[in-house]
Formats: sequence, structure tokens, C-alpha cells
Amino acid sequence: MSASSHKQAAWQAHIITLFPDMFPGPLGTSLSGRALETGAWACRAHDLRAFGTGRHRTVDDTPAGGGAGMVLRADIASAALTETRNKAGDLPVLLPSPRGVPFTQKMAADLSAGGGAIFMCNRFEGVDERFIEAHDLREVSLGDYILSGGEVAAFAMLDAIIRLLPGVMGSAASHDEESFTDDLLEYPQYTRPASWQGRDIPDVLTSGNHGDIAAWRRARAQEITAARRPDLWARFQARNRVGAPKKPDDEKSG
Ligand code: SAH
Repeated sequence: MSASSHKQAAWQAHIITLFPDMFPGPLGTSLSGRALETGAWACRAHDLRAFGTGRHRTVDDTPAGGGAGMVLRADIASAALTETRNKAGDLPVLLPSPRGVPFTQKMAADLSAGGGAIFMCNRFEGVDERFIEAHDLREVSLGDYILSGGEVAAFAMLDAIIRLLPGVMGSAASHDEESFTDDLLEYPQYTRPASWQGRDIPDVLTSGNHGDIAAWRRARAQEITAARRPDLWARFQARNRVGAPKKPDDEKSG
């Protein structure tokens, strides 16, 4: 097979969920939808209900020790994950959870470089802790707020991963400049018209001087990061040994 006709194997997304009909959902449109059609990734939703017990295929039970809500049973969650692993092969498993480590651009990049991932989507108050221990699962959080289930978290994580897959986005180079890649948020963007409601595009961007444009963008990115995300800014400063961000006025006078 020649290099040009070599087709890369599809990145495999496996989702274990009580709502398999939700998938691919929003990921079936636009960029990720086209990538699904062209075979850059494949989406398989596995019905958790199929592993339930009794006439109603129950998957949850009341929490030991009392309290509100229901808990996904360890035996049922484990049966579903084991069967999915048998079908999917050795892929990383993510358990969306508000207790997890925050999902980051770095994680999205690492996962996109692999062969796929299994998302164990949970509802209710959570899942029996013994299931998490027995499978040594990585809990991953979308942020400090509570969703009603892991599915929406899986959509967000998958979206971040899929756009990084080879050939999915037009220009791979643009990834290098995006927010978070460098611990910096992105600089402001402008497009035509040149003047809108009395607001002009900054002169430097229409100057044609690529060095000046790059410097201006870098300075704005630093300024915005320092103002909005002290956590990222501290990390950027530590890595790059830089001081306070440059303001637009500093550059004009300096
Ligand atoms: N009682 C739990 C919240 C349960 S929310 C707690 O206080 O930690 C129901 C399910 O939605 C969770 O089990 C998880 O699968 C998913 N979920 C909720 N918030 C999430 C978040 N911020 N990130 C990822 N998954 C989340």
C-alpha cells in the first residue's frame, strides 16, 4: 500500500450510557459530523440498561448509609465496562465526574494521539466506589458545576479530542496558537469591516508587518491571561520568567 493511499484507522469512541440514542447527537453535525462520515473517528454507544437486572432492567439502588438519590450498582457498571472492553480492546477509560481531575487541552491532545477512548457515563448520585477502585478508573471533570449525567461531559471531551485528529481541521498549524496550548488565552480577533460603529481594527493588524503583528498578539494574549486567569498566568510566568504583561500604550511609547 502506498503512503498516499494509506488510510488511518478511525479513532474509536465508545460510550456506555443509559441513553445511547443521544449519540452522536451534536457530534454528528459540522466538523465532527464530517469527520465521522469520512471515517476519522467512529462512534459506538453501548446501552447500560442491557446489563440491568429484573423485569425493569434496574441498574441502580439506594445509597448505603442513607441519603437522597440513587447509586449505580458496581456489579452492573462492571459488567457493562468489561463487555465494552472486550469489544473495544485496550483503550483508556474515562469516568466523567465532578470529583475528577479537570479535563484539559493537554488531555485532549494526548487522547487524540491514541486509538480511542471509552466513556463510562453515569447518572444519579454517582457510582458505587468499589467499581471505580476495581477498574482503577480515571475520574475526569468538565468543571466545578454539577451536570445531570456524564453524557454532556462526554460530548464536550469528544468534541475537543475529535477536532485535533489528523485531517479534521483544515490547518493543523492553527492548533499551536489556540488558547491553553501555551498557558495563554488567545489574543483578540478582528475581521471586516475595518470600521464598525466607530470601532476600528487596531492599526498594527492592517500594517502588513508580521513581526509587529506577532508581538502585538503575544502582548494582548499575556494581558488577557493575566487579567482573567491568574492561575494560567502564574504558570506562564514561571515557565517563561516574564514580568507584568505589556499594555498597548507601553509599546507605543517604547
Ligand atoms: N452527587 C454527585 C453528582 C452527581 S451528578 C456529586 O456531588 O459529586 C450525576 C453524574 O453526572 C455524575 O455521576 C457524573 O457522571 C456526571 N457529572 C456531573 N457533573 C459533572 C462534571 N462537572 N464533570 C463531569 N461529569 C459530571
